[in-house]
Amino acid sequence: MSTGRLHIDLSAIADNWRALASMSQGETGAVVKADGYGMGAGIVARTLAKAGCRRFFVAMAEEGAALRKELGPGPMIGVFSGHMAGDSDLIRDNQLAPMINSVDQMLRHVEALPGHPFGIQLDTGMNRLGMEAGEWAALRDIALSQKIVLIMSHMSCADEPGHPMNQQQLQAFTEMTEGLQVPRSLSATAGHLLGKDYHFELTRPGIGLYGGLPFADAKPVVSIEMPVIQVRDVEAGESVGYANAFTAPRPMRVATVSSGYADGLIRALGENGRGRLFAGDQPCPTVGRVSMDLICADVSHLSDIPETLSILGRHQSIDDVADAALTIGHEILTSLGHRYARSYSE
Ligand SMILES: *Cc1c(COP(=O)(O)O)cnc(C)c1O
Repeated sequence: MSTGRLHIDLSAIADNWRALASMSQGETGAVVKADGYGMGAGIVARTLAKAGCRRFFVAMAEEGAALRKELGPGPMIGVFSGHMAGDSDLIRDNQLAPMINSVDQMLRHVEALPGHPFGIQLDTGMNRLGMEAGEWAALRDIALSQKIVLIMSHMSCADEPGHPMNQQQLQAFTEMTEGLQVPRSLSATAGHLLGKDYHFELTRPGIGLYGGLPFADAKPVVSIEMPVIQVRDVEAGESVGYANAFTAPRPMRVATVSSGYADGLIRALGENGRGRLFAGDQPCPTVGRVSMDLICADVSHLSDIPETLSILGRHQSIDDVADAALTIGHEILTSLGHRYARSYSE
């Protein structure tokens, strides 16, 4: 079998949630959009519900509907995209809480589902989703007479603790919500780590739960082992892979392993020469381009060629891989795809 093996440590996810929750006086929710960052939204959310999490967030109503079936009644499921046209039945039938983004969404919501709980999303400077101060001021009294379960905003630069935008957004959010008797939420993982000023009544970590930066103390969650399909000796001057992008500077042994960009090992990993696979604790630099289903690595220095090489695990984190591919851990996780044989430990 050439299928790569992807293992997900659910107890690490629960431990990461508890560690974040212990830093805050407020409540700690969990973001499980994009199928729980590729880890499986249902199983991740059930694990976190057992650990005590009561508020979950997804990006779309369809994700929320699927999650409700996994979680059963009770926990809040917030939908970041709010109340889109066509979503009313899903929102009602699955008790979803849309995070209303605009005046239009607000009108749609109170017309279609009067009395159904919702949240408000405010724009504090990111200019991506949410009502601006003027819209909110116009709508505030109507909104507050309805069933608001949360007022939230999102930070654009929280992964840079010294960035002046953090303070600006904190101040804008505070001003827009002062005196309201509704739970507030400003922070994802990075904002949560900025400290208690940024916590309000609820935080919404995502990547930190799955072992990613900026939560440096997070336990690693995911590991991937890829079968070696073939090993060959390459002479100095011979090339490896598409476009002859790599030429052997000396005689080398090259292993070809099963997994490629269709499995989330994005092509950029091969482009800047910083990709590495691991044989136990021994790094093996990738050589040549990443193919759809295959990647090659230099194993010249190994005395024994193992049956599998690892790309994620104890020796290489999602952020190490992200650095090599010039991206962030979020993108590595959500790109991993559906071809791996998955296993979970509790
Ligand atoms: C994705 C997202 C989060 C979680 O962000 P992380 O950086 O993964 O912690 C929180 N809030 C909103 C609005 C999001 O879109």
